[in-house]
Amino acid sequence: MQIITTAREMQQVCRALKMSRTLGFVPTMGALHDGHLSLVERALAECDAVAASIFVNPTQFAPGEDYEIYPRSFEDDCAKLEAAGTTLLFAPSAEEMYPAGATTFVEVAGLGDRLDGASRPGHFRGVATVVAKLFHIVGPERAYFGQKDAAQVAVLRAMIRDLNFPVQLVACPIVRERDGLAMSSRNRNLSASDRGRALILHRALHAASKLLERGETRAEALRRAMLEVFASDAEVRVDYAAIVDPSTLLPIADTSEGALIAVAAWVGSTRLIDNIVIESLREDKLVLESHFMEETHV
Ligand code: AMP
Repeated sequence: MQIITTAREMQQVCRALKMSRTLGFVPTMGALHDGHLSLVERALAECDAVAASIFVNPTQFAPGEDYEIYPRSFEDDCAKLEAAGTTLLFAPSAEEMYPAGATTFVEVAGLGDRLDGASRPGHFRGVATVVAKLFHIVGPERAYFGQKDAAQVAVLRAMIRDLNFPVQLVACPIVRERDGLAMSSRNRNLSASDRGRALILHRALHAASKLLERGETRAEALRRAMLEVFASDAEVRVDYAAIVDPSTLLPIADTSEGALIAVAAWVGSTRLIDNIVIESLREDKLVLESHFMEETHV
C-alpha cells in the first residue's frame, strides 16, 4: 500500500492508475473498525484498485465538539488497510487540505440543515467541502459510504447530482457489534458503563421495528415507542428520533412508502447515531435493513 500525504502527488498517482484500472474510494476519519473495512472490501470486489483516505476533517466539527479528542490510531489503521488489500492511502495534514486563505465551501442547502445538520450547524458544509475536495483529488469511479451516516449519504448524493461529479455513490450496510451496537470510532471514547448504556439506540430502533412487524406504519406511533425506550435511562439525552424520507430527510407521517428511521443521542459526553431503512411496503411485505432483527440480540 502506497501512503501519500500531498494532494498534488495523490492526484498524479490516481490519474496514472486510472489509465488502466477502475478506482474505488473509501474516505474515512481513521480509528478504523470492521465497518470501515467492509467498505474497503466492497470497493475491492467492485473496482480494480482502492484508495482510502484518513483525515480528521476540522471543518465538520463545530467549536466545542470532539475534534481534539476524536480517536486517532494511524499506525494501526495503516496495518488494517494494508491487510484488507488497499492500494493507496491518502493521509494529508489539515494544512495540506486547508492552506492558509482557503475560503471556498460547498453547501447543500436545506438537506444540510436536517437531522445531524440541525443539531450540528455547519457539520454538513464541512463534510460536503472535504468530500468535494477529495473527489477532485482522487477522481474515483465509485465512492463507498456507510449507511450508518444516513443523512451524510443523502447530502452527498445531492451534492454529486447538483455539481455533476462523475462518481457513483455506493451506500453500504451498517456493521454492528455482536450485541447490536453500530460500530463507530467514537465507541472508543465510551466508558465501560456508557458502553452498556449505548445499546439504548439499538433498543429504540428495535422497538420501532417490532411495531412495524406488527403492521404499524404511523410515524408518530413508532416515534413514541422509540422515545419511551430513551426515557428509560435518564442519563441518555436524545438528540432526535426521526422518521423521514431517506432522500429529502423531511419528516413523513407514514412509513408505507419507505422511510429512514434515525436516532441520535448523547451517551455521557459522546454523541452516537444509528438508523434503519424501511423499504416501501410491497405485497404486504416488510423489508427491514438486512439482518437487523435476526442477527442482533437485544
Ligand atoms: P468515519 O471515519 O466515521 O468518517 O466513517 C467513514 C465511513 O465509514 C463513512 O462512510 C461511514 O458511514 C462509514 N462507517 C462508519 N461506521 C460504519 C459502520 N458501523 N458500518 C458501515 N459503515 C460505517
